[in-house]
Amino acid sequence: MTSTQPNNPLATPVQYVKGVGPRIAALLEKRGITTVEHLFFHLPTRYIDRRNVSKISQLTIGKDRTTVARVQSQGARIIGRGRRVYEVVFTDGTGQLIARWFRFNGKIMGKRFLLDTDYLLAGDVSFFGRGKQMIHPEIESMSDPEDSLIGGRILPIYPSTEGLSQRMIRKIMKNAWEKFGSDIGDSLPAPLKISNRIAPLRVSLSCLHFPPANFEVDSLNQHSNEMHQGVVFEESFFFFLGLGIRNQAIEHKKTTAYPLPSSLAEQGRRTLPFELTGDQKTVLSEIATDLGRDVPMHRMLQGDVGSGKTVVALLSALQVVGLGDQVALMAPTELLAQQHYHSFKRVLDDLRIPVACLTSQVKGKERRAIYEALSDGSLPIIVGTHALIQEDVRFKKLGMVIIDEQHRFGVLQRQDMMQKGINPHLLVMTATPIPRTLSMTIYGDLNVSIIREMPPGRRPVVTKIYRESLREKLYHGMRVELEKGHQIYVVYPLIEESEKMDLKNATDMAAKLAEVFEPKFKVALLHGKMKGDEKESIMQSFKDKKAQVLVTTSVIEVGVDVPNATVMVIEHAERFGLSQLHQLRGRIGRSDIQSYCILLNHGAPGSASVDRMQILENSTDGFAIAEADLEIRGPGEFLGTRQSGLPDLQVTNLARDGDILSRAKEAAFRILFQDPKLSAPENQGLRETVARRWAHKLSLGDVA
Ligand code: ADP
Ligand code: MG
Repeated sequence: MTSTQPNNPLATPVQYVKGVGPRIAALLEKRGITTVEHLFFHLPTRYIDRRNVSKISQLTIGKDRTTVARVQSQGARIIGRGRRVYEVVFTDGTGQLIARWFRFNGKIMGKRFLLDTDYLLAGDVSFFGRGKQMIHPEIESMSDPEDSLIGGRILPIYPSTEGLSQRMIRKIMKNAWEKFGSDIGDSLPAPLKISNRIAPLRVSLSCLHFPPANFEVDSLNQHSNEMHQGVVFEESFFFFLGLGIRNQAIEHKKTTAYPLPSSLAEQGRRTLPFELTGDQKTVLSEIATDLGRDVPMHRMLQGDVGSGKTVVALLSALQVVGLGDQVALMAPTELLAQQHYHSFKRVLDDLRIPVACLTSQVKGKERRAIYEALSDGSLPIIVGTHALIQEDVRFKKLGMVIIDEQHRFGVLQRQDMMQKGINPHLLVMTATPIPRTLSMTIYGDLNVSIIREMPPGRRPVVTKIYRESLREKLYHGMRVELEKGHQIYVVYPLIEESEKMDLKNATDMAAKLAEVFEPKFKVALLHGKMKGDEKESIMQSFKDKKAQVLVTTSVIEVGVDVPNATVMVIEHAERFGLSQLHQLRGRIGRSDIQSYCILLNHGAPGSASVDRMQILENSTDGFAIAEADLEIRGPGEFLGTRQSGLPDLQVTNLARDGDILSRAKEAAFRILFQDPKLSAPENQGLRETVARRWAHKLSLGDVA
């Protein structure tokens, strides 16, 4: 969508708003706010009720009180141990209120307040001796009461931004509104507004930024008011319009079709030592149908850890390889790439089909041989890490790309991989069950196939939360399992900033466990700082049962397959996210033997971490856990990093607004169905708005 945009005032850089200089513009940009329109969609997270200004004598103890008073006296005082407090005594004739600051600059404070001036004070009121005090109140001069930014009304509280006070952001909002508020148009079609009961955007935004005094504070805070929901609808509707336009662009690309029947895929299926589950068969046929079309596949395969995605990927790959073209599988870690390589090789060796693994560990002659075999086409299948996207890697004809755990790759890495072929088919796999609202938005351009069913004979893992005091009991339980010939993982969290310390913890723990269990049982240590081949040989010795206890940092999070391991002990489980714990737990329970997961909780008693862990104790359903996790942590953190390709939805909350999202998506797609390019005269407003808001973010550049 080319930007045929007449200069819409809302696209004005936020720098041109009065009160925003380069410094503040930079702060706002960190929040993704670069234009006036972004600023208007930057909504308060909550509101406080400052409608009632009380006399000091009537001020009650509690939160968010407001009063107006004058300065009586002020000064700094020492309160022992070198700590100081700055006190200002305010009075309004009915009583005294002391404002106190524990962090202050004496010079500035001394000049801050004028005598004979009314000040509006807002904050929490508490007792101090027999008097009343406010600690670190918000204060403003009432020289111009009409202008109050802190009192006498319902007060918006914006998401906190470092270096930007609430007062400043309110001021900026006010200035922006005075200059640009009237430019906010209504591009939503009238029938949509009526059927979804949506007020004009300008009205909604005005109410949300500058709530009229007769508004209900509770409904504002719960975001359950029509104004808020209208803005969410408005935002997500245009997002889906953009997404729909992008989908069309994909649909218009052409590629090679690999139709069924594929005798190679059939042979591959026959070499498997097990029958595919019903879900595996279903998703295979969904993928097979896509591969049979000359439009590039864009499909995500979701399935809980251990649900058997790898074999689905392999059989799909054979459909492409059977017709002479190539397939690449890219995994986020060395260990995972190795694992996939080995499971592919088991089947491919039987079929006499070459496969290789390319990671940064592969060097020299070996690497050159792989490059050559890929470019002359003699190597039909390659598995690897992002080593695969290096420039020297060239394919004769790459028909399909498979990306595992794709949320760990940046959008650019995924694109680089795709560019190794001409519109190759794309299959992405993830074991992080993505809640529906999230997949609908981030992966809105992907079709989704889901494996919900586990291979037969699996028993749900029994999960227990232990505190440190139960460590002896834990060791006893571990010994019982070891005596049965089973194996055990002990996992330490690895947090980047304290990597060294965690490593030390893991190393110490390995030594301690060796004291407890050796010589009868061997304890091995695996961590992220080890070299690839070293990691692999340790993993191999664990697989070969040469070691019974594997102490590791979270490197094993994805992809390790040792069905004989039946216990996982997770140290400092409180430091992991729910989904991550669930992933880790997926490493056990991979056979018909009962498995146990022990979450060692070092968190403070009664802290939120226990509640979170209890979700895991009670459920093994990855989707339910992911939904809960999304709610607790929010989408950004849920997916790990900013590189997750999360679209910049400013007001829509993926955890909260699922219903609105569905409605908005349906409405947007319905319009595109009738007018795919938004070329009808009545759709010009839509076209302009979607271009302004999303052309850049969704890279719609090459669209019509
Ligand atoms: P995922 O990649 O989804 O985590 P895997 O593909 O690694 O799961 O499969 C986990 C284990 O289950 C592997 O050992 C695999 O061989 C086995 N497996 C896969 N499908 C089946 C099936 N239908 N019946 C029995 N075992 C299966
Ligand atoms: Mg896997």
